[in-house]
Amino acid sequence: MPAARARCAIVHYHEISLKRGNRPLFLRYLQQNLSRALADLGAPRVTQLTGRIVLEPAPGAELEAVAERVGRVFGVANVAVAERAGTSLEALKQAVDRVTEGRAFASFRITARRAFKTLPHTSVELNRELGAHVLARHATRVDLDHPELNVHVEVLPGQAFVYGNRRPGPGGLPVGASGTVLALLSGGIDSPVAAWRLMKRGCRVLFVHFHSLPYLPDDSIRKARDLAQRLTCWQYFSRLHLVPFGEIQRAVVLAVPAPARVVIYRRLMLRIAEALGRRAGAAALVTGESLGQVASQTLQNLSCIDGAASLPVLRPLIGMDKLEITAQAQAIGTFETSIEPDADCCTLFVPRHPGTRMSREEAQALEARLDLAGLVAQGVEGTREETFDFPAGFGPYPSRPPQGAPAAGSPPR
Ligand code: ATP
Ligand code: MG
Repeated sequence: MPAARARCAIVHYHEISLKRGNRPLFLRYLQQNLSRALADLGAPRVTQLTGRIVLEPAPGAELEAVAERVGRVFGVANVAVAERAGTSLEALKQAVDRVTEGRAFASFRITARRAFKTLPHTSVELNRELGAHVLARHATRVDLDHPELNVHVEVLPGQAFVYGNRRPGPGGLPVGASGTVLALLSGGIDSPVAAWRLMKRGCRVLFVHFHSLPYLPDDSIRKARDLAQRLTCWQYFSRLHLVPFGEIQRAVVLAVPAPARVVIYRRLMLRIAEALGRRAGAAALVTGESLGQVASQTLQNLSCIDGAASLPVLRPLIGMDKLEITAQAQAIGTFETSIEPDADCCTLFVPRHPGTRMSREEAQALEARLDLAGLVAQGVEGTREETFDFPAGFGPYPSRPPQGAPAAGSPPR
């Protein structure tokens, strides 16, 4: 085994989600996702230690770049670039020197933690000894509540890690640990955010986009592709299903009065999505609907739409308003693509005044005029699949990691 390197990245995860015996699963997915996120940065060695994961990048790999990447992996609570040291007081002092040297900080604190109480030196002793050591070398003062530099000292059996301020991770659960879902991805602002929120809860998200080629140009397909690619930086591999929907809409227009069409389109979308989703092992469908945002998103219409699918339909944005959704789209880097102009299939054959209250019975009566099974089969058979890998073709991450929004299958591919 190669010798342990002195500098490494240390990753902490949310213990809270690990209580129900799902810890091994959680850690397996987290470790796999960390390796994928870092594949192009010299594939670091990944080691699990009690309550934390240590990453040792290949020689020459930029540790800060590694930490930046890790800071975007779901399941990560925080990450820091750390000095590995022995557990003697002298070794810890030297590691603290390496962390603090060349830095100016008006205030600091030492935050020492021991993994096992049997270790020499209590945390209080370490805080005092190492704090005095720093004060003797730097023009600074102790501030326990709001330190400019928080020097963390984690003592494990046989080794310790010392590091400065931590970089917060996105929290949530590792992608894959909660299973697979299929998200209906339009070119709009909402559905990419909805997909992202399920990823954050540990789902691998497959995508389906309904387009209207050749009735409309392929703008909406290009947007869906771009959004799928951007979202792939959170799950490392994605699959996008492209369904030809123009002919299906035409059939609806011929048989269904204008005010009822939007709901009938959505019910057809759900049926096709369900067929594709079941084939791909998805346990639920996801949409970007938010209560009352548009006429098709009233409680009555949502209930009517739900009636078309037997898989659960998850709507993570249901209680969010447009401003909140927009802020999140900006934070995750999908907003710019979503606001590009396009002629989505929903703009084709869409009535000016859609109905707001359709019952399931009314919908079924209207659908009796259609060859439902034939239309669904037509959509499913016409579907093309594309795949996306991380980080190929992917631009920079959004400028700040998304925080704020509340933060466990089947194999990833
Ligand atoms: P979005 O911003 O996601 O487009 P929206 O506010 O425009 O949502 P609707 O047009 O009513 O709302 O669409 C509701 C949901 O239906 C979308 O969030 C998306 O999940 C799904 N959807 C709508 N159009 C399409 C499409 N062309 N392809 C795939 N899914 C779609
Ligand atoms: Mg839309």
